[in-house]
Amino acid sequence: MPTLDKDFIRATLAGSQGPDNRPLADHLQWVAACESFASVKLHIAGLTDTEALDGFARRVHGAIRAEAADKGVPLTSLIVELVDDAGSVLHNSTTGPKPSQSDREKLGSQEPTQQAQRPRPQEEAGSLPGVDRIIAVGAGKGGVGKSTVSVNLAVALAKQGHAVGLMDGDIYGPSLPTMLGLGAMDMIIHERLIEPFFVHGIKAVTIGKMVDPEKPLIWRGPMAHGAFKQLAEQTHWGELDYLIIDLPPGTGDIPLTMAQTLQLSGAVIVCTPQKVAQDDAVRAARMFQQLGVDVLGVVENMSYFIGDDGKTYDIFGRGGAEHMAQRLGLPFLGAIPINTALRTNSDAGNPSANFEPATAGGDQLPSALLELANNLESQTALASMRQGRTKPKLTIS
Ligand code: ADP
Repeated sequence: MPTLDKDFIRATLAGSQGPDNRPLADHLQWVAACESFASVKLHIAGLTDTEALDGFARRVHGAIRAEAADKGVPLTSLIVELVDDAGSVLHNSTTGPKPSQSDREKLGSQEPTQQAQRPRPQEEAGSLPGVDRIIAVGAGKGGVGKSTVSVNLAVALAKQGHAVGLMDGDIYGPSLPTMLGLGAMDMIIHERLIEPFFVHGIKAVTIGKMVDPEKPLIWRGPMAHGAFKQLAEQTHWGELDYLIIDLPPGTGDIPLTMAQTLQLSGAVIVCTPQKVAQDDAVRAARMFQQLGVDVLGVVENMSYFIGDDGKTYDIFGRGGAEHMAQRLGLPFLGAIPINTALRTNSDAGNPSANFEPATAGGDQLPSALLELANNLESQTALASMRQGRTKPKLTIS
């Protein structure tokens, strides 16, 4: 018997026309299918009229249901979401019985009515005394360079003259002991507060210095939450302009703890150009939006490679993450090339070397990293204004 899956839905939408005479698949942004439940999200530009949106959604339901009936594909519930350029939901409708909470979780989808009633975690969160702006760095999947970007963004912001903290929130797989070269240093607790390590111009804390580095960190949810909160709240940060938090990959529950605990300026999403990485990054973006955390922008890591011959090689499909950001209406913060020095400097615990052309394989890496930090600063300032958190600055000249 044919099964309900993403390809079935994509093919159906490719073969069906929308009210604008374009294939419905042209609008498709996200699709999930599990057993006989499916959820699709379509991007609709310039349509605000309720009746027109209704008509569009009916077209999508009709096309998928008709094809499923025709091909004998089991389809119980279908959720259709129409979103605008900013990712805001314009219209949401379900045909068939409403999926249970566990089915919705499998689909990674939320009913907007419930979402609106549920308190947004950020509204309950507090600030950290002395810390001006908190920025989380997340990724849909592991290995895309999230920790590398966190470390280098922190060092780049410090190089621009800011007081910067970096917290290793990747409780299950902390990378900072290696990436910052903390090997020989010991943790210091003073008056029941953790003293951060001061390295490469930044203050840093990591769970990796509190546990045996060779032992797996198998923690139940509440323990991981406790560790995260402790690192954030019981560290002697002092005065910081920016605190960067390196999150665990994916859409697990640490981001929820973070959103409930800390009032964030926003989140950065790291993604490589490939389609598979983009799909996961879209999920991460949706997660932040559901948690009420502003997405400050997308970083495309491992974007391209410059060979010894000086030629640029497009290995993973340069621009993929940038297009994804455009599609979701998110700012694009910049691209980082695949760079051997970046990897070796990370392994050697010396991110400062990424900012010196002599140890960074040329000018390109330092300028890419500093540009990233500049763009992040601008987006953070804009977000603070939107959030009404801009503090008036007194300038005397
Ligand atoms: P994540 O935090 O997403 O799991 P990491 O930041 O730990 O990923 O990066 C994984 C590996 O890839 C590390 O060895 C890192 O040095 C390397 N790496 C990350 N970005 C780049 C890049 N642009 N060029 C070369 N190596 C990179």
